Amino acid sequence: MLFTVSVVVQLPAHSALAGPLSYSSDQALEPGTLVRVPLGRRETLGVVWDAAAQPDGAQLKPVASVLEGIAPLGAAWRQLVGFAAGYYQRALGEVALAALPPQLRELDAAQWQRRLQRKSRKAAVAAAAEAPPPEPTEEQAQALARIQAEDGPFLLYGSTGSGKTEVYLRAVQEALVADPQAQALVMVPEINLTPQLEERFVARFAPAFGRHALVSMHSGMTPAQRLASWLAAHTGSARIVLGTRMAVFASMPGLRLIVVDEEHDPSYKQQEGARYSARDLAIYRGRLESRHSGQPCRVLLGSATPSLESWHHSRPAADGGKYQRLAMPSRVGAGRLPAVRLVDMGQQPRNTQLAPQLMAAIGARIARGEQAMLLLNRRGYAPVLACGSCDWKSACPHCSAYRVFHKVDRSLRCHHCGFAERVPRACPECGDVDLAPVGRGTERLEEHLTQLFEGIARPGAEGEDRRVRVLRIDADSTRHKGALEEQLAQVHAGAVDVLVGTQMIAKGHDFRRITLVAAVNPDGALFSSDFRAPERLFALLMQAAGRAGRDASQGAASEMWVQTAHPQHALFAALRRHDYPAFADGQLAERMQAAMPPFSFQALVRADARTQQAAQAFLTQASSAATELPGADQVLVYPAVPTAIQRVANVERAQMLIESASRSALQQFLAAWQAVLHSTRRDGGIEGVLRWAIDVDPLMV
Ligand code: ADP
Ligand code: ZN
Ligand code: ZN
Repeated sequence: MLFTVSVVVQLPAHSALAGPLSYSSDQALEPGTLVRVPLGRRETLGVVWDAAAQPDGAQLKPVASVLEGIAPLGAAWRQLVGFAAGYYQRALGEVALAALPPQLRELDAAQWQRRLQRKSRKAAVAAAAEAPPPEPTEEQAQALARIQAEDGPFLLYGSTGSGKTEVYLRAVQEALVADPQAQALVMVPEINLTPQLEERFVARFAPAFGRHALVSMHSGMTPAQRLASWLAAHTGSARIVLGTRMAVFASMPGLRLIVVDEEHDPSYKQQEGARYSARDLAIYRGRLESRHSGQPCRVLLGSATPSLESWHHSRPAADGGKYQRLAMPSRVGAGRLPAVRLVDMGQQPRNTQLAPQLMAAIGARIARGEQAMLLLNRRGYAPVLACGSCDWKSACPHCSAYRVFHKVDRSLRCHHCGFAERVPRACPECGDVDLAPVGRGTERLEEHLTQLFEGIARPGAEGEDRRVRVLRIDADSTRHKGALEEQLAQVHAGAVDVLVGTQMIAKGHDFRRITLVAAVNPDGALFSSDFRAPERLFALLMQAAGRAGRDASQGAASEMWVQTAHPQHALFAALRRHDYPAFADGQLAERMQAAMPPFSFQALVRADARTQQAAQAFLTQASSAATELPGADQVLVYPAVPTAIQRVANVERAQMLIESASRSALQQFLAAWQAVLHSTRRDGGIEGVLRWAIDVDPLMV
């Protein structure tokens, strides 16, 4: 007897087919079973989706093979994938297959059997047992008691250095001990931060649960490693999965706890393909897993500067809040947050890079053997190189942007398309040799500091060692594998006096000797057209401030300096008092007034085309054909506009904002609009449209 099975596969982008495909099988296959099926002339990996509709598949192509020896993907996992595909307006197959490790797609049934038989060869490194875990502080104990007693979701709002990680560790411990099948998922925003967290988790859990009980999941791993981690999570042998946003889709049959560390971080939003928010999916997944297993799967979001969305959701239940807010305002030990000093750059001579009082403060730190950290969110030497005689500037020939001058290798590099050339000897327009850098980046700041400190000697050092040691950490200095770890180790070892870097150094690192942090030029974000720019700036500055004075013995004297031309700005007033709630409430009031998220819901439709006119015409035409769609009466469709950088790699880009007070109306509208966008692309008669995509809950608008 033949059965019909519906199988989800990855179809070519913008394929007219969207749902599962039907195949025949000589055995009934459980939903979630992994199979290989013919597709065109290829054979491809698929996931059996629904129970067979009817037991008759005579006309259909047969399933080629079943991946034996592996349990089907669970119902909660399939629902998560189904929800993500629907909500983010992508094909089911795309989301499902992207959620599986890439190597799984390549193995045929025979290779698969060999892979399953292979023993995990992970060396059983004896984990250095951690010193006995610290007694929880009063605040930590209270947070943990509520996590035990309530269902969540929880927002752990704890200052930098309040010991949030210790709360995660204990919450994981409690979940794993309560149930021998239980699993926990712990997410961090960036790969850079996984090794440190991994170390702490290994030290805590390897002695009791074994080293194999912990696996990582992030894009820095090899395909073979990713498959191994995925299998360990899927079979339940891994009790803890540590990973970046992609880990939200890990198949974990015993999932009981999801932690999202630094939940406000924009890297939880995928920026291509299915543009999902791993934080939002974590909340949804917690509900699904609880429902399917009948036991709570708790979700714990943590941050010192929560996203305004999560902050709003954690308002008192009486006002409609849905998350439980757990506050940990104090730093562990006697550690205090640094004093914030604002330098009014309006009072400084034009083009001052570093105000004299800041220089003096840094000098004093060095003299005391302490470290300083300077933050400048722009890499390279200068964002533009310009001719002194004519108006030539280092524009990128392929983008509507300037190429950045990198002095280290004397190149002009476009940070958008990657186009790079050696710096010309003379102006390409007029031949003048007087080419000058305009503005400043981290390289230039590093050079400037080295020069300024030439005359200053480090205390107690002799000869060459007397020189002040400046280190730069940014995407350029850390291009090679292992470079970042090596540079961070130098900072921790005290082999660096002044650390210069981009936001890369502001996040998460537990630097013990830094007592002064300075934001050199943060003003750009104050007047950005993106309404989330102040929120991101505030989070960045609070995070950066959190790097200073982490050692309680020095905390009292630590400082955060901010150079700004707008010292009166409300953002800085709140920063001075380390008052996130005041900042958040101010922003939320403004957003409510303007009906912006979280008081409304947004989506962007982006179009890429050969000309800006075509990109906009495509969006305009698709929107005028959408006025009768379900939900249309409740959504506001804005006119098509060029994106902030409208041309990248010779492709013109435009976007259209869609807004609604109702999430479900927006969803309904987008789902119906997809077909219109497809047909406009196919039959609209507009030449040169390359691609389009919907971004639901966009972070950068
Ligand atoms: P956060 O993630 O909130 O910034 P961490 O979890 O990194 O803070 O904790 C800051 C420091 O305090 C770490 O060095 C950590 O080991 C230490 N710590 C955390 N909890 C305790 C505790 N209960 N007793 C003593 N030290 C603690
Ligand atoms: Zn010139
Ligand atoms: Zn370019």
